Amino acid sequence: MYDLFRSKITRVIMKIVPALLFSSALIAADPDVILYNGKIVTVDPAFSIAHAVVVSGGRVLAVGTDEAAVATRAANTKMIDLHGRTVLPGLIDSHVHALEAGLSEFRAPLPPLDSYAAVQRFLREKAKTTPKGEWIVVPRTFPTRLEELRMPTKDVLDVITDHPVVFDASYVVILNSAALQKCGIDRDTPNPPGGEIGKDANGEPNGVLKNAQALLKGISLGGHFTDEEKLRALEDQLKRYVAAGLTGVGDRAVDHEQIGLYERLHDSGRLPLRVSMTWRPDASQPTDELIRAIETARYTRGSGDDWLRFSTFKLTLDGGMTIGTAYQRQPYGAFGKQLYAKTDPDDRGQLFIAPAKLLAVMRAARNRGWQLTTHDQGGGAIDAWLDTLAALDREKPISPTRSFVMHASFQSPGAIARMKKMDIAADTQSQWLYLDGPALEKVFGNDGLRWFFPLRSYLDAGIKVAAGSDHMIGHDKNRSVNPYNPFVSMWTEVSREMTDGRALHPEQKITREEALKTHTIWAAWLQFAEDKRGSIEPGKFADLVVIDRDYLTCPEDEIRRIEPVIVLIDGKIAWERK
Ligand SMILES: [Zn+2]
Repeated sequence: MYDLFRSKITRVIMKIVPALLFSSALIAADPDVILYNGKIVTVDPAFSIAHAVVVSGGRVLAVGTDEAAVATRAANTKMIDLHGRTVLPGLIDSHVHALEAGLSEFRAPLPPLDSYAAVQRFLREKAKTTPKGEWIVVPRTFPTRLEELRMPTKDVLDVITDHPVVFDASYVVILNSAALQKCGIDRDTPNPPGGEIGKDANGEPNGVLKNAQALLKGISLGGHFTDEEKLRALEDQLKRYVAAGLTGVGDRAVDHEQIGLYERLHDSGRLPLRVSMTWRPDASQPTDELIRAIETARYTRGSGDDWLRFSTFKLTLDGGMTIGTAYQRQPYGAFGKQLYAKTDPDDRGQLFIAPAKLLAVMRAARNRGWQLTTHDQGGGAIDAWLDTLAALDREKPISPTRSFVMHASFQSPGAIARMKKMDIAADTQSQWLYLDGPALEKVFGNDGLRWFFPLRSYLDAGIKVAAGSDHMIGHDKNRSVNPYNPFVSMWTEVSREMTDGRALHPEQKITREEALKTHTIWAAWLQFAEDKRGSIEPGKFADLVVIDRDYLTCPEDEIRRIEPVIVLIDGKIAWERK
């Protein structure tokens, strides 16, 4: 270990000395911070373990033994005695929706809505303080996470009769009778283009609207917030990410408004952590307008700096598996009919973009330099996306763009082989396995989930995996939709345990070291930042997290309970446990 330190510090000095020897900048090379007496999990190529880190000018100057590190101490160096604690590279969540999540509890905390009874309690309480006739919104709740495992219909929401109620399940919403009346929806109302008004056995609307939010009258599900409120909600959420041990996030769907908010935070020095942005334009625009927007945008992949940068171009290709609109290879079947309130058990979900349009738009984005992805949740959507990537790959190798599948929950050996062949990465969310596995197993059977989040198969095929949460609603790192606690994510990757305590296809488990890489060096790679972040190595940014127990050796079940103690970003203490 001493040799390791020597060789690294020597290398650093060799690099620094010729440039700085005659410059007063040498003083700046004095260590600002030394963390010592700990277990430094470097995640370098050898997965080395060290005892101390020397930080200078926001970068890691050296990694090695306590003796050698402490010997570099200067007069103003801040010394942090780790008391044996473990230090990991700053963790990255590759997939969040920070503004949406920040606003979701900006005005009032949300109760956990995990059963019809809880939803009804919430409605009765809300009705007491809401003027009659005004809308009440049941915030983002998925049927896969309700005790009943059945999509509610209007009768569940009809405990309230003086207020129109909308239950928000993302692309699907459910209205109560008062809301149907307010929106003028009855048995004769035609389905909107691409949408569906659910009907009961008598042909009456049952309250379920699929991709038909345009029929809602007098309500915006996003709520109303001023720009200043949005800015504060975003900043506060980003701070909560830091407190969870994250030093970087990928915001997976920014539009012009969100880009503006991020830039304001950054310009005023208020950005709490590093953000890599995914631009997602509205895919329903005509093809030529989308292409024009891509060609004239002032940004592309790499625009920005080490704090705020654009990385990815995304289109939403299919729906969600929590609401039965993910486009599958096979029908959702009888249980799917119940869970998702489907009229047709042979329904396979929805593909939102025709292949020709997808190819034309993605070609334009590739030519503009973007990394490409789609939201592709169901197997049918994965196959459609890989078809597009294959067409682009034939024109020009796609590998250098580091393009990837997103979610890609329902995999197949054939699709994995195609990813391997074209060098396509994966952006995955184990939280879906943990929370939705039991419900999905009822829909597709245990065998139908054999290739569900197949992390072991990805890694064995040499496919890079970056992990994220898809955090979108709620502030609490463990109770939100979806929990953004990175230790819960790594624990799920390692254990494949679901909420009911069973492990789903344990043959797909990965090791703790691999799970850590999905939130560090591989996530950095997906953001084109592996040369600056994702490991604790000389020359990289000093983004570090000190944790309260040893991630590598604690009992497996304790991984999810690991708490950060100190978070450093750019060599500065960004958060500290009180
Ligand atoms: Zn997402």
